[in-house]
Amino acid sequence: MTTAALPNLDTQLLPIAEKVHRGERLTLDDGWILYTTPDIWTVLELAKSVRDRMHPGVAYYNINRHLNYSNVCALSCKFCEFYRKKGQEGEYTRDLDYIRAEGKKAAESGATEMHIVGGLNPYLPFEYYTDMLKALREVAPSVHLKAFTAVELVHLARIAKVYKKNDTKAGVRWVLERLKEAGLGSLPGGGAEVFDERVHKEAFKTKIGAHEWLDVHLVAHEVGLNSNCTMLYGHVDKKAERLRHMEILRRSQDQALHRLGYTGDPDAYIADGIVESEQINAPVITLNIDDAVLPTPEMSSRGGYYQTITPLPFFPDGSELEHLSGPAGLENLRTIAVTRLMLDNFPHVKAFWIMQTLPMAQLMLEAGADDIDGTVVWYDITKAVGEGTHQETTELDLHRAIEEAGYEPVERDTLYRRVSRDGNSWSVE
Ligand code: SF4
Repeated sequence: MTTAALPNLDTQLLPIAEKVHRGERLTLDDGWILYTTPDIWTVLELAKSVRDRMHPGVAYYNINRHLNYSNVCALSCKFCEFYRKKGQEGEYTRDLDYIRAEGKKAAESGATEMHIVGGLNPYLPFEYYTDMLKALREVAPSVHLKAFTAVELVHLARIAKVYKKNDTKAGVRWVLERLKEAGLGSLPGGGAEVFDERVHKEAFKTKIGAHEWLDVHLVAHEVGLNSNCTMLYGHVDKKAERLRHMEILRRSQDQALHRLGYTGDPDAYIADGIVESEQINAPVITLNIDDAVLPTPEMSSRGGYYQTITPLPFFPDGSELEHLSGPAGLENLRTIAVTRLMLDNFPHVKAFWIMQTLPMAQLMLEAGADDIDGTVVWYDITKAVGEGTHQETTELDLHRAIEEAGYEPVERDTLYRRVSRDGNSWSVE
């Protein structure tokens, strides 16, 4: 790249570009430059080069359905427009008949996945959750059940009375082992928000913090469940805090990959004093290099890992933070790109079209994302457009968006295996 050919090139980006091409871990200072340079187009281009190296020529989507089993929640996070209190207008809790009917619809429509999350309902017993998974297993045996955020899992440990404040992991392990036995396939990854004590106190102080969130995912990986993670940004958080969030996540992934047998670089950059969990002691492991072998579900006998990071823009409407404006288009595009560049050991970066809009998700495929999620159908948490919870798109729309961006659409299952399909019948390759 010659600077003369690119008159607007920010030359601060050149050493970062070299590191990216070598597959080297970027520092938090590099991240700051990527987040603040006026030369956003070079940042997007760099992120695209990484996503193309890791997933040449393809972009992923899936056929899925969402199930929100209850919006009753003991907490009242400021950024949340989803929760209701018991007796409040609009509150709901789905019974087993409803859940079974949803499972049947998912199976009959050829969905490969059900994405299941809800509020922290203090009125439901632990058996409600195992019964829900077992019922879905019965009516939809081939559908993968991706369910419960770390926040819900800690709540489940509490209602099952196995939660110990001085040893979160023991209670969560008890819960996860029982849920896995009942049919749990993987964890969706919400509830992380932005790992920072100031942000935590200001926006969601009664919810679990970084340490507990990380412990839940660590235990999930130990019991062989894959998980995902998110970053809900654009509320009271600052860019430096988002970068710290990314450092914590990539260190947590270093730990997961190390367990799978990946070896890393013991001398590579690790940010000082950031990672809160004493469990993370692995070397730096990157996957954004040529010929890197991405982890596969077959490795699950050794442990699980993070599959995807999904940056989620904050939507102020209906929340207690309605006075904030929330992030806009270029900020969202840049955040996807910075995420791809910083999270060098995450196999996938998802542009969740429900919260980004489909045209924006399409642009994000050019800016580091390799996945745009699925057909969804009902989504009750938050959304970019519209009042209702019906948020369906068709496979044809997803194909069109991906092809127009210049990639081959690849249907994946939850574990990112290619799906072969004949109408509503499907199998993984
Ligand atoms: S974000 Fe989750 S935990 Fe917080 S109020 Fe909403 S549903 Fe409850």
